[in-house]
Amino acid sequence: MREKTLTCVSCPIGCEITVKTEHGKVIKTSGNRCPRGETYARQEAIDPMRVLPTSVRVIGGRCPLVSVKTDRPVPKRLIAEIMQHVRKMSIRAPVEIGQIIASHLNGTDANLVATRTVPRAECADRRGISCDLTEIVHET
Ligand code: SF4
Repeated sequence: MREKTLTCVSCPIGCEITVKTEHGKVIKTSGNRCPRGETYARQEAIDPMRVLPTSVRVIGGRCPLVSVKTDRPVPKRLIAEIMQHVRKMSIRAPVEIGQIIASHLNGTDANLVATRTVPRAECADRRGISCDLTEIVHET
């Protein structure tokens, strides 16, 4: 039997939850104040999930990259594989905030969604929009 202590991130209270597993199955959770915590702990102990923030190359845009994130958590074990896929992607400007860049990433239910707008280079020049790469890096 293995025992692990997790901090629930489902609400700001942050309960410390102890999860006992045996042969890859959860046999007991304790310390959670509500059922959401148990759901979180069971998932986290067996197959942790994460929202993935990253960036995608933009062609003909005022910025060379657009920040993106998955619209729902993806299995942590798939993140390296998903990133290999994302590194090969590019999208032509303009890109609108909320635009779906890719659907069903690596067979998951998650879509990759733009978290900022990137106008075409010539449009941005006319509107005086500048590209701050530092800002992009910090957003991801
Ligand atoms: S177990 Fe319930 S009360 Fe505790 S942090 Fe998680 S969601 Fe909040």
